[in-house]
Amino acid sequence: MDVDVLITGGGPAGLSTALHLNRIAPHLTPRILILEKARYPRPKLCAGGLVLDAEIILQRLGLDVREIPHVDAQTIKFDFEGKGFNFRVPRKHALRIIRRDEFDNWLAIKTREAGIEIREGVTVKNILSQSGRVIVETEQGTFHAQVVVGADGSNGITRRCIFPNAPVHTARVLEVLAPSALRAPPPNPTMNILNADSKFELSYLGEAGRGSDVAYFEFSPVPNNIAGYVWDFPAQINGKPMRCWGIYDTNILASEKRPQLKEPLAEEMSRFGYDLNDYEVKGYPIRWFSPEHLMSVPRVLLVGDAAGADPLLGEGISMALGYGALAAREISESFQRGEFSFRGFKRRVVRSGLGQTLLVRWFIAHIIYPLKWRWFQILTWRISKPLVLLTAWMFVLNWGKRLK
Ligand SMILES: Cc1cc2nc3c(=O)[nH]c(=O)nc-3n(C[C@H](O)[C@H](O)[C@H](O)COP(=O)(O)OP(=O)(O)OC[C@H]3O[C@@H](n4cnc5c(N)ncnc54)[C@H](O)[C@@H]3O)c2cc1C
Repeated sequence: MDVDVLITGGGPAGLSTALHLNRIAPHLTPRILILEKARYPRPKLCAGGLVLDAEIILQRLGLDVREIPHVDAQTIKFDFEGKGFNFRVPRKHALRIIRRDEFDNWLAIKTREAGIEIREGVTVKNILSQSGRVIVETEQGTFHAQVVVGADGSNGITRRCIFPNAPVHTARVLEVLAPSALRAPPPNPTMNILNADSKFELSYLGEAGRGSDVAYFEFSPVPNNIAGYVWDFPAQINGKPMRCWGIYDTNILASEKRPQLKEPLAEEMSRFGYDLNDYEVKGYPIRWFSPEHLMSVPRVLLVGDAAGADPLLGEGISMALGYGALAAREISESFQRGEFSFRGFKRRVVRSGLGQTLLVRWFIAHIIYPLKWRWFQILTWRISKPLVLLTAWMFVLNWGKRLK
């Protein structure tokens, strides 16, 4: 089969590329094909925290994420050993938390409604760039494309085919889903008799000591050579309030002696009455952005995690949506010129609001994690609050509006 634009992977990066192409070059729409190895709604390990930049990009596409189930965190709390500062956005939520199976399924429906074809259950096996076209081999046959967009995530085949020997920077991440309300330790027998039936509800701790509209980032693992944090977000699964816990390690301190990720996660969860052994722990890598990474070869370009997510916090959904907008512009202009070198794609990314936030976050990650001493972490998360907030507001957030 021959197409103009073949997108490998139907996550936020691939779907955003297709939706943006449909908007700026609608004549290409019937010539776009997305190949997705899974079937929607497919599971994707992710805490689902959407920053406002993601919503800005979706709104520009005419999409309203409130159509799917979500929980709003009004406050994000950045802590070191339980103390730190709160981040709030005036008159808005600070973080909107979705479930990725629902979000990606919703985005895929919107993409299909725009007239774009998605083939599910098709795994790309190999990509060969030859003069004049790209050959994409799958278990279900071979496709020929003018242009291929590698949107197949952190472990994607596209990057491995076009840059087989390039350096890779990958974070390790674990995630756990737990109930938001925990049962209290058994009350003493006298209480039990007195409270039988009528007061049974009192034997619940409620919100396990944490705010149902607060998302927590705890940086206490840093002095132990974990270049990251433990998170605890509110979540909603099948209408039920839950907590999504996890731990993120950029691997920037990988050469040092490091504990297993489970230890600091278990320790942090136990402070709130959770026993990690009671829950299923899942892991998945996040490939993060580094300025030396390449993003394209003639006729093939990378977007989303395949190109590189945020190294500082491992945030990648808004970035994936942003990469899609930039890739669509690059592809549309290439078709206008009839020239597909994609030589300027990385420059386009780096000069955009997305590239600027990625560069700043890369820089900050290489300061706050290697300077891992306890006193420096206390200085960052407790004492330098105005400076941290100002830097975050000016350089880390609000890039969605500057996505040019
Ligand atoms: C535990 C964890 C928690 C996270 N929490 C957050 C968070 O709270 N907020 C946030 O912003 N980011 C978070 N992230 C990062 C975020 O999940 C990613 O940055 C985001 O999913 C990147 O989107 P993408 O479209 O590039 O890749 P993906 O979402 O990984 O999508 C890639 C798609 O390609 C498909 N695919 C892969 N290989 C092939 C193939 N060979 N052929 C065909 N299809 C293929 C996959 O099935 C998938 O659908 C988290 C990540 C992890 C691991």
